[in-house]
Amino acid sequence: MAKRLLESKGQTWTEINIEDHLEKKTEMMERSGRKTVPQIWIGDRHVGGFDDLSALEASGELTSLLGLQEKKSESHSRVVIVGSGPAGYTAAIYAARAELKPVIFAGLMSGGQLMLTTEIENYPGFPEGIQGPELMDLLQRQAERFGTQIFLEDVEEIDCSKRPFRVRGAEHTYTADTVIVATGASARWLGIESEQTFLNRGVSACATCDGAFFKDKPVAIVGGGDTALEEALFLTRYATKVTLIHRRDQLRASKIMQERALANKKIEFVWNSAIEEIFGEQAVQGIQIRNVKTGEKSELAVEGVFIAIGHKPNTEFLKGQLALDPAGYIQVKSGTSFTSVEGVFACGDVMDPTYRQAITSAGTGCMAAIDAERWLAEQDFE
Ligand code: FAD
Ligand code: NAP
Repeated sequence: MAKRLLESKGQTWTEINIEDHLEKKTEMMERSGRKTVPQIWIGDRHVGGFDDLSALEASGELTSLLGLQEKKSESHSRVVIVGSGPAGYTAAIYAARAELKPVIFAGLMSGGQLMLTTEIENYPGFPEGIQGPELMDLLQRQAERFGTQIFLEDVEEIDCSKRPFRVRGAEHTYTADTVIVATGASARWLGIESEQTFLNRGVSACATCDGAFFKDKPVAIVGGGDTALEEALFLTRYATKVTLIHRRDQLRASKIMQERALANKKIEFVWNSAIEEIFGEQAVQGIQIRNVKTGEKSELAVEGVFIAIGHKPNTEFLKGQLALDPAGYIQVKSGTSFTSVEGVFACGDVMDPTYRQAITSAGTGCMAAIDAERWLAEQDFE
């Protein structure tokens, strides 16, 4: 994602794979003081990880840091799609094939949640499975093939109060006849102070990204869903032991994932428990666990803590514009992608508290593009 963001700004980079160059891994950790990849330097300035690069982009500083000219423009499109996960790209493929010349604001995390995972085994059409980033690359190329224009920037505001709607991104602003919101979901955090203190210093929400830093070290993971189990299994490649801490005594994850995780000797389950505190000096050294039934507290020595407790819909920027349910999901008219504002459609995880799968997101992305196309045909725009 960092590479795509830099690429979108016409910037070249040097990439070092730390798994192939262990001496560079040590150097990187010493120079940055961090245990996550990527670590990015612009010239001699240490920027940090992708989140830090994104923050610079969001604040508008990245352009000048790279010595580039700022671009500000306002244009019009019949369809503006916000978000570039399976939902957004599928909506783009359909809208582009309907010759609506869609524009996608792909967001700084272009490609969405599947960029953070490895093997996808349940996306139809790939009997041997496919890597998440590879699938997203294919979807992007398919959307581009039919003429989708892509901006790798976050939308900061959508004004749905009058038509044409107005979509304001970090660099570009578009007016639009229809808007399709496909902004998906982001990782949830436990909300304890020490979690933020040790973020990038042993605490992570992405085992796929950061697991390799914990070779021959004990780690803990929190959560009982598919993500937690998938990540726990992934971490067994590196860690000496993976302790999975779950607040109940039953897992939410699918049966197949449960069977795999329960059968893995490197994974130990701690039931009915919560992490109360993460402690250490420069980096994580352990956690305090509380049994939520008995109140009993215990300590566990770990060097990594992976948070995998689900995701929340990315709708902060839509508050007051569209009707949301109490958990923040966009409300749609049952069986359609129509939101509370006529001409604004929603698809994918951002409107789906129930299924939240890549294929259902792609399916509702298709629905949103067809709903938008038919709605446009009924309007008197031209
Ligand atoms: P997302 O994939 O969340 O994409 C949302 C997009 O919107 C992102 O590109 C983001 O940058 C962008 N965005 C957000 N806010 C803004 C903004 N303000 N402006 C512009 N853009 C914005 N599902 C499966 O079916 N099989 C699996 O094996 C599987 N594995 C998974 C593994 C992990 C670790 C995780 C976290 C999820 C997994 N899922 C899996 C679930 C799947 O990833 C999601 O259901 C799917 O990605 C949702 O697609 P989406 O397009 O709705 O949203
Ligand atoms: P999820 O299914 O919502 O599970 C979240 C887990 O975290 C639950 O076990 C929940 O506990 C726990 N949790 C929530 N808040 C917590 C807190 N504050 N403290 C401690 N624990 C907390 O989320 P997910 O696992 O990320 O999965 C999201 C979607 O993606 C699902 O639809 C899933 O099927 C899909 N997915 C699929 C695959 C796959 O098919 N291979 C892989 C990954 C994800 P409770 O159980 O007690 O609620």
